[in-house]
This record gives sequence, C-alpha cells and structure tokens, in this order.
Amino acid sequence: MNTSKILITGGSGMVGQSLKKLLPDAIYISSKDYDLTNESDVISMFEKYKPNIVVHLAAKVGGIIDNIEKPYEYFVENIRMNTYMVEHSYKNGVEQFIGILSTCIYPDTVESYPMKEEDLHLGPPTMTNFSYGYAKRCLAVQIDALNKEYGTKYQYLTPCNLYGEHDKTGHNSHFVAALLEKISIADKNKKDEIQLFGTGTPLRQFMHSDDLAWVIHECIDKKIYESFNVATEENLSIKQMAEMSLETLNLTHIKLNFDITKPDGQYRKDVSIDKLKHLLTDFKPLPFKEGIKRVYDKISKRHD
Ligand code: NAP
Repeated sequence: MNTSKILITGGSGMVGQSLKKLLPDAIYISSKDYDLTNESDVISMFEKYKPNIVVHLAAKVGGIIDNIEKPYEYFVENIRMNTYMVEHSYKNGVEQFIGILSTCIYPDTVESYPMKEEDLHLGPPTMTNFSYGYAKRCLAVQIDALNKEYGTKYQYLTPCNLYGEHDKTGHNSHFVAALLEKISIADKNKKDEIQLFGTGTPLRQFMHSDDLAWVIHECIDKKIYESFNVATEENLSIKQMAEMSLETLNLTHIKLNFDITKPDGQYRKDVSIDKLKHLLTDFKPLPFKEGIKRVYDKISKRHD
C-alpha cells in the first residue's frame, strides 16, 4: 500500500499511536502542527500535504467530569474541527475520508440492545456528554449529506470505549487508564482499597486502540467505504472490569469502594458489530483480560 499520501489528524493521540505501527509512512498531525479549530490552519495543512486519504482522529476528548464542566468547549471545538476537515477534504479532492465517532453519541436509551448503525438518531445522547455527543453526531450528518449531494464515498466508524498503552492518566483520563493508575498507586503504596466513581453497575464495551487501528488500516487497504460500528462483544459492568483487572494482576487483596456521589454516566450503550463482522471476517479483538496485562505495565511505569 502506498501510504505517502495518507494524512492522519490526532496523530499524537492514543489511536494515532496505534495507527503509526501499521502505517508508519503516513503523515501524522498533532495540535502543535496545526490547530484544526482554525480554518486557515486547515487550509495550510491541505496546501502543504495534498493527501488523497484522510483519517480524522483529532477531537476534543475527555472524561465525564470535564464533559460536564466544559460543554461549550466540547461542542464548539469538535464542530469546528470536523466541519473544516470534511469541507477541505472535499475541496482538495480527497478520495477516502474516515471520520471517527463514538458509541457515546448514540441515544441515551433505546428499546432494544445492542444498538445498530440505523439507531443513531432515535433519541438524544446522554446528558453527561450531550455536547460532545451532538457535535460528533453532526460529523455523521455532514458526511452523509456530502455523500448524498456530491456523490463522495466518505465514511465514519463508531468505536466503543477504548483503552491502550498511550491512554492519558491523571486529570481527564478515561475509565481503564484511571482504574489501572489507581491500582498501580495502591499497590506501590501498599494500600488495600481503591475508590471508583459511581455505582459500578453501568455496562461498557472496551476495546484496545490497536483493534480500531487495524480496522482503519483494513478500510484503507481493502477500499471499504461503508460506515459502521467498531466494538468488542464483551459488554461488562464497571465492577466486573475492575474485578477482572485485579484478578489478572494478582492483586485481589485490593478492595473496591464505589463513590456513589459521583455520576455513573450512561447505563449502557452496547452496539452491534454484525456489519463489521460481515465486512471484515478476520476481526479478532483482544480480550479485555489480555489487554489489561499489556497496558498495566506501561501505565504503572509512569509512577516509578
Ligand atoms: P486523544 O488521545 O485524546 O488524542 C486527541 C488527538 O486530537 C491528539 O492528537 C490531539 O493533539 C488532537 N487534537 C485535539 N485538539 C486538536 C486541535 N484543536 N487541533 C489539532 N489536533 C487536535 O484521542 P484518542 O483517544 O486517540 O481518540 C481518537 C478518536 O477516537 C477521537 O475522534 C475520539 O473522539 C474517538 N474515540 C475515542 C474513544 C476513547 O475512549 N478514547 C472512544 C470512542 C471514540 P495534541 O496531542 O497535540 O493535543
């Protein structure tokens, strides 16, 4: 595959780092190179690189508390980045555009689970990431509208929650990185308890970022232009995932304490991957237990 004309935004992020292993010669962009919320930066980037394939990973991404505290930032920054990226990809003749959504943009509740691609607009996204959810949904609307009006074959992939070696820890981290960081700190400080947000009951599909990178690579390599969900079929509760992690790491003496004054977020948002399995029959995502073993070492070394 000729990767010299593939431009990847969000190249410094977790998924960008996974994609670098599969597409080492692509062009990787971070916010230090171009601020994609600024249209003149986006124009300059396209003038410089003239890509024929764009993978748009960049987004303002954050944890539940940050989403609740800064709804306007999450809405406006994502709307701007996505609008300019699709618009200027089209104006510059980009052949394949892969936008990345998220399963948290699906309706807060639906009548039957797992949710299918066509359920996206059946109801509003959950209140805890309402702005982010709507901004990301607009990317789907924009891409579908462009395809309809101008005959492009742009697409979007909708991944479930992700984790990986390059996940952020500390303030604004996602669940798995935050969990592993808490376990690692407790282990090093010989503590026998960790505290987790909420009741522990919400269900989540969690996938390693390398698996999303593999799907993106396959879409480019096999010239697949469809839009579809990308997830694992493991739909586990927060409590189950925490317990599995402690078991896998042989640290079951550490007890879980749930802070029910903190928000749970959406109760469930599991999506169907029937379409993905039909398109990519070799899709074999890493089981959660194996992923935890791989990621824990990297995350725990951050505190050495
Ligand atoms: P991430 O680690 O938070 O990385 C975000 C990337 O976006 C970074 O490269 C960042 O650059 C870039 N970025 C942010 N604001 C920018 C701006 N104004 N201009 C240019 N670049 C900007 O994200 P990720 O976890 O890899 O997520 C990749 C994609 O998957 C996102 O679209 C996200 O919505 C989606 N997704 C993520 C998850 C998840 O659980 N992480 C789940 C479902 C979907 P800097 O490093 O320079 O700031």
